[in-house]
Amino acid sequence: MKLSHRISQINGGGSDGWDVFYKARAMVTAGVPVIELTIGEHDIGTDHDILNAMHDAAVGGHTGYAVVPGTDQLRRTVAARITARTGVPTRPENILITPGGQSALYAAHYGVCDPGDTALYIDPYYATYPGTIRGAGAEPKAIVTAPDTAFQPTKAALEKAAPGARSLLVNSPNNPTGVVYSQETLQGIADVCCDHNLWLISDEVYDTQVWDGTHISPRSLPNMAERTLVVGSMSKSHAMTGSRVGWICGPEDAIAQLIDLATNTTYGVAGFVQDAAHFALNQGVQAEEAVAAPFRRRRALTMQVLEGQDVIRAVPAQGAMYVMLDIRATGMDGESFANALLDAEHIAVMPGESFGIAAAGHIRVAMTVADEKYRDALKRLVAFASKHAAQ
Ligand code: PMP
Repeated sequence: MKLSHRISQINGGGSDGWDVFYKARAMVTAGVPVIELTIGEHDIGTDHDILNAMHDAAVGGHTGYAVVPGTDQLRRTVAARITARTGVPTRPENILITPGGQSALYAAHYGVCDPGDTALYIDPYYATYPGTIRGAGAEPKAIVTAPDTAFQPTKAALEKAAPGARSLLVNSPNNPTGVVYSQETLQGIADVCCDHNLWLISDEVYDTQVWDGTHISPRSLPNMAERTLVVGSMSKSHAMTGSRVGWICGPEDAIAQLIDLATNTTYGVAGFVQDAAHFALNQGVQAEEAVAAPFRRRRALTMQVLEGQDVIRAVPAQGAMYVMLDIRATGMDGESFANALLDAEHIAVMPGESFGIAAAGHIRVAMTVADEKYRDALKRLVAFASKHAAQ
């Protein structure tokens, strides 16, 4: 039976650069000891205190349907956290709890775009973005950035793409580049959204992982709160990827309608998971810093290993769990490099090309293995690149 056009076109066509990821996974299954520096998953599990809170909530009876918008206490906690972090007065009515940031991204686009509307996003991009937009019925349109502006979108590029579009999706701290958008970039984004009457969808799931610079939520810029939907998540900040809990923060009337969408799609998030998220958020910033600390250390390790060589250039890694490396001096594109590295050294990284066209000639390294192993892998990666650059 034929399926809908909507679902069959979610993935788009052509190679998406993920072959190397699947090849690495197949090697692991076949018993080859591959060092996987591919996806954004912590090498620690969820903290046991959080799991105990989840267990206590479940055993205590919070296993029935939870209220769809999210429990009062979690919505209050998220709202207070956003108020404290951004200075924008935020109420529980501004918050919808969702099963992770991914479903929030989908709901946000579904909420602001009609079928066929143009939804802008920035290239390089997190892998699901175009599919999420297509899945919500809109037309994805990439704004391609460049390595020489550290992959931050320029106001000119935004201006050029904006006419006729409905929404703009941005992500800072950024996956895959590790770049944190500057005040100037964010002001450019805000200006273009206001001038062209765009909704801004701001994916801030890495907001607790900033190594350099400051995370500014664009919702806090003048006139932006009324047109911004912020996507948040417990996945990265609290190593709760599998729990599937996140949120959308936006204007109350938009949230009220997104609650209608949730009622007819997800029907909310498990109550015991929400209780665990509430517990986790009340552990304070030390808990978040403990989760972020390994990436901060490995980012410093990366800088050390790369010092004193000029074959590989790092895009300044200011946040998130990744470092984007420019390997163009080897004469290879990202995909050939990643494949050759996997074959020769059994080290798996993501080709820049799997995140769009802007990061061609780059690779993304996820800093998601233990420090010593990470340092060793990176040294071998540099030696491998140097050998190829010399050829
Ligand atoms: N946005 C970005 C930029 C991400 O990297 C991810 C996960 N890798 C997500 C959203 C979705 O995260 P989750 O659904 O686990 O909250």
